[in-house]
Amino acid sequence: MNGLMMDVDLSINAIVEHAERCNPNTEIVSVTSDNPRHRYTYKEAFARARQLADGMSAWGLARGDRVATLAWNDYRHFETYYGAACSGYVCHTINPRLFPEQLVYIINHADDQYIFIDPDFVPLAEGLADQVPGVKGWVILAPETSMPATSLPNALCYESLVASGSADFQFPEIEENEACALCYTSGTTGNPKGVMYSHRSTILHAYATLMPDALGISRRDVVLPIVPLFHVNAWGNPYACPIAGAKLVFPGNKMGDGETLANLINEEGVTLSAGVPTVWLGLLAHLKSSGQRVDSLRRIVVGGAACPLSIMEDFDTYGVDTCVGWGMTEMSPLGTLNNSSAERGKYSDEEFAKVRLKGGRAIFGVAMKIVDDEGRELPWDGEAFGSLKVRGPWICSSYYKLDGSDAHAEEGWFETGDVATIDPDGYMAITDRTKDVIKSGGEWISSIEVENAATDHPKVAEAAVIGHFHPKWSERPLLIVVKGTGGEDLTAQELLSSLEGKIAKWWIPEAVEFVDELPHTATGKVQKTKLRELFKGFEFPS
Ligand code: AMP
Repeated sequence: MNGLMMDVDLSINAIVEHAERCNPNTEIVSVTSDNPRHRYTYKEAFARARQLADGMSAWGLARGDRVATLAWNDYRHFETYYGAACSGYVCHTINPRLFPEQLVYIINHADDQYIFIDPDFVPLAEGLADQVPGVKGWVILAPETSMPATSLPNALCYESLVASGSADFQFPEIEENEACALCYTSGTTGNPKGVMYSHRSTILHAYATLMPDALGISRRDVVLPIVPLFHVNAWGNPYACPIAGAKLVFPGNKMGDGETLANLINEEGVTLSAGVPTVWLGLLAHLKSSGQRVDSLRRIVVGGAACPLSIMEDFDTYGVDTCVGWGMTEMSPLGTLNNSSAERGKYSDEEFAKVRLKGGRAIFGVAMKIVDDEGRELPWDGEAFGSLKVRGPWICSSYYKLDGSDAHAEEGWFETGDVATIDPDGYMAITDRTKDVIKSGGEWISSIEVENAATDHPKVAEAAVIGHFHPKWSERPLLIVVKGTGGEDLTAQELLSSLEGKIAKWWIPEAVEFVDELPHTATGKVQKTKLRELFKGFEFPS
């Protein structure tokens, strides 16, 4: 017998209708290229998204056509998310930090029809334009008065496009499995792969991120997404905040500028912020040098890469709780969240320092398992390492125009490419990427744990560990380090001695090499493939 409940499609158009009626006066504040502090309300934002959609309807696009963005976090980008997706088009957010060849590849692969670009990216777009012949027009996110001179074919002014439409425009009905957004992974090898989100997956993910032990966003929050709108939908914040009625603060192109971030936090009363580890280093450096505080900020969510303990401990001194989140582009992105600080009293200082570094517990809706090389499930004992697999309604079931990838080899499960342990409390800890595991004498070494221990040293700015050929053990860890300010005199011996007692003795790297910088991907992850290439000829001292 079926239930007798309404079969209402889950579409993000409902977010617009909800926010217009229930949260009309909540503010969105943005830094843009033409205004250091633009502010308006959800009601105004969605009226403009309707005008934009009306303006775009003259282009003759079909349902499901891709409309792309190359833009920073600000209100015009937010309007484009909704104007495109609520019209039945797919909003393809492009990471401007990708290499130009990758940009050309994904624009052509996605068959983007129009691209909305921030004025900052006009030179970048001009360099690509003749290699992406399918693009029919470039919409520059600026008013007529700030339109840059450009050689882009069919360059359109965003504000004129908005002004051409009516705020009474009615979006079409959307079926929940229709696509609403597209984001390519910035994999370290091969071509980027497209993840196509549906209206349904986006709504379910937004609901899940709102839960108290997930991002816990409420109407009383002021949320500063430092994570870009082009990095997995800014972890769902642009959908979750209008549902909750939380105020949104967008930092524009100033996401790496500690001073602007601190001012935005203090002047707008930001309570919650989200970003990758590197952005927090910029904010902390500014706070330390200026003596400024961030008293309104209660919580930051750090994800995208392992978060060093030093960042958490620095934020502790400002009364800010640091929560690690783990996820992937393929997972919309949130999979787990670490809320161990809510149970701080359960742990000794030493235990807490360990548990807070973990990825955390699965959010309801995400099922996880770890398996060995034969696909056998491993116990959740906090010891066994295995390939992490996930399933759930906001996890991709195949890549866009790329059927049959290895990631979906087992029916119903997605192979994350991460290696992890899960403890009896359900806390998952990433130990490595599958491709980066180090096997010394047949035993696994967790490069992430070694890196965490190394970055705890006050003279270390950044550290990466790779497995390198060793005649006796087949592989041993090689630690590659960027020294921090005041760390010029740091020696390999001093660093290695500091690791004793923090990690297993045989995990202590065989050697340390100092470099000026580490290679990073477009989303700020260390490119270990590049490091392995760079150190191919290295020999461990005998
Ligand atoms: P992306 O799709 O670019 O967001 O990258 C996803 C990958 O980033 C994951 O598969 C992990 O390898 C890594 N990652 C994300 N969050 C964390 C975290 N909290 N700790 C360690 N690695 C992470």
